[in-house]
Amino acid sequence: MADEYEFDQTLRPLRLDDFIGQNKLKKNLKVFIQAAKTREESLDHVLFYGPPGLGKTTLAHIIANELGSNVRMTAGPALEKPGDLAGILTNLHERDVFFIDEIHRLNRTIEEYLYPALEDFKLDIIIDKGANARTIQLTLPKFTLVGATTRAGLLTSPLRSRFGVVSRLDFYSADELTTIVHRSARILGIEIADNAGLEIARRSRGTPRIANRLLRRIRDFAQVVGDGKIDLNVAVESLHQLEIDDKGLDEMDKRIVHTIIKKFNGGPVGINTLALAVGEETDTIEEVYEPFLVQQGFLNRTSRGRVATEAAYQHFGLKYNAPAQQKLF
Ligand code: ADP
Repeated sequence: MADEYEFDQTLRPLRLDDFIGQNKLKKNLKVFIQAAKTREESLDHVLFYGPPGLGKTTLAHIIANELGSNVRMTAGPALEKPGDLAGILTNLHERDVFFIDEIHRLNRTIEEYLYPALEDFKLDIIIDKGANARTIQLTLPKFTLVGATTRAGLLTSPLRSRFGVVSRLDFYSADELTTIVHRSARILGIEIADNAGLEIARRSRGTPRIANRLLRRIRDFAQVVGDGKIDLNVAVESLHQLEIDDKGLDEMDKRIVHTIIKKFNGGPVGINTLALAVGEETDTIEEVYEPFLVQQGFLNRTSRGRVATEAAYQHFGLKYNAPAQQKLF
């Protein structure tokens, strides 16, 4: 959604000090950035991993801002040919940030080309064809690769080992999200009561992007049914309309847990079967829905499949039957 993209851009903090939460990560990053600046060197390559909407792209921009350099952005699947990569790398300047989103989806050929670029800032390119084909080696400016992925486990180990800094982003606390909601409201000129901000934060699946999205939707409700101000009543009523429940579960979260309980007797159920039953892509379930459901204690991943927890039954007001012990003989 182009609209949503612009909205994200408007609300994106530009400096590390304006970036709320992820305190440990921020503290470390500050040191590394400062050290690189003092030595007048490029920052080590950085890998961010974690569920979508937690601030990986934002941090890539912030790193570039803090270094006083530029950022060049792309995504794993967009780099199809070595030429695509060479085109970007040869246009970078010293200490620029090269951001690759969804880096786990890079194809192997590109990955192989990337290794010497990351290690020695060299790029081998083949020119001409057939008998005239030869390789020339280009020296690249010293840049910083910032990779982002929702699936760190899918990264090959040679690629992973080329990152000097590897940081996981965690879900945000309700307090942190409240600060984010109020900051966004201030930027967008929305009047919002303190308790309404907390209510939105509490139901945002620990995710700033969702908090901002809900704020925007609720502003629509506030403008249509009231005077544009968001008070607790408007917030609660709008969240109800949006089918966001008390714990912040949305329609698909609910469908996933419900399906495991109702159709598969609480599980275990394999991820592919589950995806088919709820009508969602396997990847999306694993990257977007599962991490939050696991974090909330509604879902367990076991070697035999996904299992609904007792807390999940309780949340939906259903009676829990502890799974029978597996018979060994
Ligand atoms: P990701 O790349 O992890 O999917 P983004 O960096 O695109 O996530 O973040 C989504 C949106 O959430 C951003 O536009 C920004 O407005 C907001 N956001 C993310 N993290 C923070 C934060 N720590 N403080 C304030 N806003 C944030």
